[in-house]
Amino acid sequence: MFDHDVLIIGAGLAGMRAALVARNNGVDVAVVTKVHPVRSHSNAAQGGINAALTDRGDDWRDHAFDTVKGSDYLGDQDAIEIMCREAGQEVITMEHMGVIFNRDEKGHLGTRAFGGQRQARTFFVADFTGQALLHVLYEQIMKAGVRVYEEWFVLSLVVEDGACSGAVVIEIRTGEIHVIRAKAVILATGGLGRVFEPSTNALICTGDGMGLAYRAGAPLMDMEMVQYHPTTLKGSGVLITEGARGDGAHLLNSEGERFMERYAPSMMELASRDVVSRSEQTEINEGRGVDGCVFLDCRHLGETLIRERLSQIMEIARDFAGVDILTELIPIQPGMHYQMGGVKTDVDGQTSLSGLYAAGEVACVSVHGGNRLGANSLLDTLVFGARAGNHASDAVKDRSHAAAVTDDSATKDRQHIEELLGHDAGGEMFGQIRREMGNDMRDYLGVYRDQRGMEKALSRISEFKERYSRVSVPDKGKTFNTNLLFTLELGFMLDCAETIALSAIERTESRGAHTRTDMPDRDDEQWLRHVLVKQTPDGPQIDYLPVVITQWQPEVRSY
Ligand SMILES: Cc1cc2nc3c(=O)[nH]c(=O)nc-3n(C[C@H](O)[C@H](O)[C@H](O)COP(=O)(O)OP(=O)(O)OC[C@H]3O[C@@H](n4cnc5c(N)ncnc54)[C@H](O)[C@@H]3O)c2cc1C
Repeated sequence: MFDHDVLIIGAGLAGMRAALVARNNGVDVAVVTKVHPVRSHSNAAQGGINAALTDRGDDWRDHAFDTVKGSDYLGDQDAIEIMCREAGQEVITMEHMGVIFNRDEKGHLGTRAFGGQRQARTFFVADFTGQALLHVLYEQIMKAGVRVYEEWFVLSLVVEDGACSGAVVIEIRTGEIHVIRAKAVILATGGLGRVFEPSTNALICTGDGMGLAYRAGAPLMDMEMVQYHPTTLKGSGVLITEGARGDGAHLLNSEGERFMERYAPSMMELASRDVVSRSEQTEINEGRGVDGCVFLDCRHLGETLIRERLSQIMEIARDFAGVDILTELIPIQPGMHYQMGGVKTDVDGQTSLSGLYAAGEVACVSVHGGNRLGANSLLDTLVFGARAGNHASDAVKDRSHAAAVTDDSATKDRQHIEELLGHDAGGEMFGQIRREMGNDMRDYLGVYRDQRGMEKALSRISEFKERYSRVSVPDKGKTFNTNLLFTLELGFMLDCAETIALSAIERTESRGAHTRTDMPDRDDEQWLRHVLVKQTPDGPQIDYLPVVITQWQPEVRSY
């Protein structure tokens, strides 16, 4: 058994930011991660990070209002105020740690425009901002002496006397199962993108943390709010950053028309993501697409700008679609990108389970509500990662380890894995179920939804769960048994899929990314509230919480 004061699960931006703050606060910190830290999905973030810097003539209140409006008034305004107020300091802190942000001609930090915002306030490093941030934070946690359990996979959370007291993990290289005891645990496991197919997310984004918290009894909130990004590449679903539109690229339909004129005459291509994705899908459904796609036109941006600021996009379009963006249109479609919902936390990252925190995409504070603004997620990971690290490290100072946690705390997980490996080797493997689930989630819980489709999805998910209970793991080996790991991930994904479908059916209105063709209107009378799902012995239980409103009353949302 291993002991640490604060155990952080996940080494993306949220996890490493939390680790650095907690370590600098003088406690013993460890990070456990299923992939090497710099392979976390944060590495793939392209476009940038938002902050309203006063000396640039911007104001955090304007950023907060854009975020509130972007969320379709479902975001909690107390949390949004904190995020927007702390944004400038976080960006500058990262710059001082060594992130080389792009600068303008005068040598000031440069900004680009992003969707749903009236000011260009997105700070960026070309089109690989996440990578730049992630590598710098990795250097910093190494320097600070944070212990990293690299390529260890968390199987479950240990709960003793109603408090989270550690985690059970499998060491991927050896297949050995260990208990890591901790006085506080911070979940920073990222999103669940791959519950949908296709998705812009890495294959490792399987919602493990949401599943871990849910199984430990912590409620998940806003799970119905699944973001479809307007520009994902035809076929593969690889992301083409919103930064392209921020830098001036246009959307065209099969008739060569800039169709956003009809949907969002003032913000055009830079309306909020839910609005642009719906507009594209409507064009496609009404026959003005080509092969299920519309087009992104970068041709007029010029080679110099493209090579300087969008070089990765140029390579992605060439390698994955055979398109030269300097001279050709890019075929794109809306694609699953981000989960606004997650483990419900307060503004210090505390979940409803004592000793358990969450931050980053796994968490729901909720700053994104029904629709996240582009470049607000990197910000969310840093601000709330730091806050969780700070609160947890303070809290453990007068706390001792739970004596009841021993090596035996892993017994259930050991038995579960033995049982899984004991299933008939010739049966159905995880892959088929995962693919069918992903396709169903896209078809029934994608850009447009209705009652019949959502109910169909829910009944299919029960069917997948039943098949999963008999799933076969033919590889019985100990070393790097990825067959076993992918099977365990599918278990978390099925829990996530179920909570998404349940919450979506519950919300009898359209708001943000949750657009029902059978109930197209927003209903502020009934639905200025969050949907929570909690696991109980009698099955999932639904609950509600009112939206926190501080200074911005709901208005009609147009762009
Ligand atoms: C292609 C792409 C581009 C994006 N671009 C932007 C952008 O420009 N701006 C923006 O604001 N947002 C962007 N986003 C969103 C943003 O990048 C993510 O929401 C954010 O980086 C998530 O960070 P995180 O720290 O919460 O999790 P991640 O970076 O996903 O890290 C999760 C960590 O958890 C670990 N983990 C997970 N499960 C387990 C387990 N069972 N056991 C052990 N470890 C586990 C993983 O190993 C990993 O270290 C983008 C997202 C994608 C997919």
